[in-house]
Amino acid sequence: MSDPELASRLARVDAAIADAARAAGRDPAELTRIVVTKFHPASLVRELAALGVRDMGENRHQEARAKHDELADLDLAWHFVGQLQSNKARAVRAYAASVHSVDRASLVDALAADDGRALDVFLELNLTEDPGRGGVDPEALEPLAERVLAAPGLRLRGVMAVAPLGADPRGAFARVREASERLRRLAPEATAISAGMSGDFAEAIAEGATHLRIGTAITGDRPPRG
Ligand SMILES: *Cc1c(COP(=O)(O)O)cnc(C)c1O
Repeated sequence: MSDPELASRLARVDAAIADAARAAGRDPAELTRIVVTKFHPASLVRELAALGVRDMGENRHQEARAKHDELADLDLAWHFVGQLQSNKARAVRAYAASVHSVDRASLVDALAADDGRALDVFLELNLTEDPGRGGVDPEALEPLAERVLAAPGLRLRGVMAVAPLGADPRGAFARVREASERLRRLAPEATAISAGMSGDFAEAIAEGATHLRIGTAITGDRPPRG
């Protein structure tokens, strides 16, 4: 079922992204807008592709792989943004352009492969006090980065974070920017910051985000997972 509002939501979000970039003195062209299509059918991804979207985000392996396979005729880049079990890492590597949720050494080791290609990797920061949430403690960022730098087949792009619910997103993203600056002392090429979702992308852009992960503001409400 095609969604007549999809194109206008996409255009509205892209205009808001450009406004936020200009307000921050940044060039909108330096931002990558990833549309998070989790829960939505492959047909919606196809509609997005027809509107010129190339970067798609998913948070579960089986769903991501199924869409990747069904849409293999399209030239899409799949970004894995959800928590990832190490035993699924190799399978994700096979179709993903990037993994935004790398948060532990065992996952780095499981994603690494000497297969002649480089998988883009973002280190996810846990900005909450709850260790059960995904992400590495910002204090433990450097050793994890060293592990990626030493691993074959991985390209360290930067950091990723989700602003904690109920907190001021600007303050949360300021912490992400600070972690990014520390990371760049160790890995000068790792300049990317994956931050900003439907409700807080303007704040993320103000704090230097380079990769926005936007779902519902573009796709509309997610159908229940079934
Ligand atoms: C679902 C999801 C998003 C998109 O969230 P929206 O609020 O729908 O924009 C971004 N990042 C991650 C990690 C997600 O799981």
